[in-house]
Amino acid sequence: MTRPLPAPADIEAALAAAWKVGKARCADGKVAAYIPELARVDPSLFGLAIHTVDGQSYSHGDAQHPFTLQSASKVFSLSAVVAASGEKVFDHMSVEPSGDAFFSIVKLEEEKGQPRNPYINAGAILTSSHLQGATADAKIDRFRTFLGQSSGLGAGAFPVNEDVFRSEADTGHRNRALAEIMRHHGTIPDVEVAVETYFRQCATSCTAESLARLSLYLVNNGRDPLTGKRVLAPASNHGIVALMATSGMYDEVGSHAIEVGLPSKSSVSGAVLAIAPGRMAIAGFGPALGQKGNSIGAMKALGVLAARLELSVYR
Ligand code: GLU
Repeated sequence: MTRPLPAPADIEAALAAAWKVGKARCADGKVAAYIPELARVDPSLFGLAIHTVDGQSYSHGDAQHPFTLQSASKVFSLSAVVAASGEKVFDHMSVEPSGDAFFSIVKLEEEKGQPRNPYINAGAILTSSHLQGATADAKIDRFRTFLGQSSGLGAGAFPVNEDVFRSEADTGHRNRALAEIMRHHGTIPDVEVAVETYFRQCATSCTAESLARLSLYLVNNGRDPLTGKRVLAPASNHGIVALMATSGMYDEVGSHAIEVGLPSKSSVSGAVLAIAPGRMAIAGFGPALGQKGNSIGAMKALGVLAARLELSVYR
């Protein structure tokens, strides 16, 4: 049974306390440097945003500072693909945690070009290749239209950062290798289209505020509670959120489940998106990452919020 929402004053107080704890931890992390353009981001940035199913929104700190979605985009490309063509994308992809780094090639090779899940890079590249359209441009138009419609904010709220795109396109050799292995096994039809689409979706910009707003359909069984638009069938939404719980936080998915207890998706740009089903979407942004590649500040802040507002799904 869905628990009631906390009172607005309690949410505000918890958010301020969580921000303080998270911000203090940013000094302990490092920005991702393997995509050169990401290395230029200020590691002290830190913002939190909450959107609740009853239409309230709350934010603290750098919640309007733009950043690129990176891995958080994987939840939305999967949503767009499943919304348009059902579960077909899972014909060549499983739903199990990988236990390897998000960019790992080993299991993909062992398992004959079938990615372990849609939130590691191989699975996300496969998913990108399923976006509607023949070219990378057409697929990205679809993707951004999906973001714009699902959030009610319009595609203009989610522009592609061309510098970040170019930076990853110039250096993303491992992702190309993953795509080549899948091409070899016949899992994807065209390496260039899949990889360019993937790099562009990763370079699509948002803010903590727009990310939390966008995620309300995930909180509300696949229907945006503010516009009333059905984005996903409930069963599909359930699967996409469940995969966040099992594979959304790289190799820290276990400790995050214990410390926070919310299905979440992180990214190397410093986002952590957390879903409190039936209640609220929370987006943290802090580009200083810990050893496992997750935003140190956002994870700590989510722990505080989950404890104070009793949000864990395991309680
Ligand atoms: N574009 C990044 C990559 O493929 C996304 C990784 C991430 O955020 O986990 O390396």
